[in-house]
Amino acid sequence: MAYQVYFQTLGCKVNSYETAAIAKLLAEEGFVETESCENADVYVINTCAVTGEADRKSRQMIRRAKRLAPHAVVVAMGCHTQMCRDDEGADIVVGTDDRPALIPLLKERLKIQDGEKNRDDLDAGTRFFEYGSVNYQENTRAVVKIEDGCNNFCTYCIIPYSRGRVRSRSREAILSEIRDMAGKGYREFVITGIHLCSFEKELGRDSMALGELLSEISAIDGVERIRLGSLEPSCMTPELIEVLKKIPQICPHFHLSLQSGSDTVLKRMNRKYDTGVFRRVAADLRSAFPDVSLTTDMICGFPGETDIEHHESCAFAREIGFTHVHVFPFSPREGTKAWNMDGKIDGTVKAERTAELRGISDEMERKRAEEFVGKNVEVLLERQLDDGTWEGYCREYIRVIVTPDQALQAGMIVRVNVSGTKDFSVIGSVSRE
Ligand code: SF4
Repeated sequence: MAYQVYFQTLGCKVNSYETAAIAKLLAEEGFVETESCENADVYVINTCAVTGEADRKSRQMIRRAKRLAPHAVVVAMGCHTQMCRDDEGADIVVGTDDRPALIPLLKERLKIQDGEKNRDDLDAGTRFFEYGSVNYQENTRAVVKIEDGCNNFCTYCIIPYSRGRVRSRSREAILSEIRDMAGKGYREFVITGIHLCSFEKELGRDSMALGELLSEISAIDGVERIRLGSLEPSCMTPELIEVLKKIPQICPHFHLSLQSGSDTVLKRMNRKYDTGVFRRVAADLRSAFPDVSLTTDMICGFPGETDIEHHESCAFAREIGFTHVHVFPFSPREGTKAWNMDGKIDGTVKAERTAELRGISDEMERKRAEEFVGKNVEVLLERQLDDGTWEGYCREYIRVIVTPDQALQAGMIVRVNVSGTKDFSVIGSVSRE
């Protein structure tokens, strides 16, 4: 009988993609995924280390796995275990640079006879760990990973230590995965990586390499939408924006990682841009994509952040007019420069600043939804809700609730007349053209 594997994933899109990738490799070895942890023979936890809270949850999940599935082989993998090899009771621990060892270790543990496949010759950590075509999707969007690692060393971030330096996936493998998924009917492709703009950086390329790749992706039959994951503002050169503008499938939604709207804080964070650069990029994107949505991440309470710096940050967020801001209270990560920085911000102050910025984000998000009333938008339908309406996202990444007056199904792209808003979403009905 086939061994059953249960997966639990913490953290970002890249982690979810990697869980799907490991699931695929295990399926090739005859393992079967299960939804129930009690019956699992193998219990895999893909951990995260992005915040102290993520570390705590990772440790808790590993300990819980042993209790919930006492007979399973518990595997802990990912960013948290890369940084801290404490097993917390796990039977197998791999990080991010020795993932190729997972399958041989697991087989050994399960005493499976090793077949002809042996992936531990991969020089992971310096080369992209190629999983082959993963076919990972999030609702009706296909997610494709093109790069791993980061060389930037922002002072608050553990990623360059936990995932190592930039290594890019081969164009051949990326295009082949997208062809495969487009052939299966996926229409929207989310291009993801730890630091997307660094695609092919290890080959001495600049961000135009990403532009070239996106042009190649756009030539694949069936690719109707391309959405980009988080981007660093400094790589959004006028040349790259010019290339993006010429690709009709590029969704006018860009997640530009800001982190702070104060130049002095950005400097302490070792970010590679200032608000002047960000302002230029936002203006260039607005001129290339007139109805563009800009979203971002921001941190409140970075060490030494003064009231004035916090207010600069809030004012800059308003000035840019984001569609949404993911606001995080600063959480120090051991092993980063910020861990030892002076000027720790009191928890209450941090919480107040976080709430204030979240309030500003909510305000901007509502206003942005209102701008769509009276417009006709293209929606990729994701799922039917309990009340019979459908939910999907338009190209600008606004959630759209669609009242059906015809048979609809997940994965369909329809045009919708927007008649109103509901919180941060818009509502409308399918337009007859
Ligand atoms: S750019 Fe900075 S925040 Fe982003 S992964 Fe690299 S080091 Fe971390």
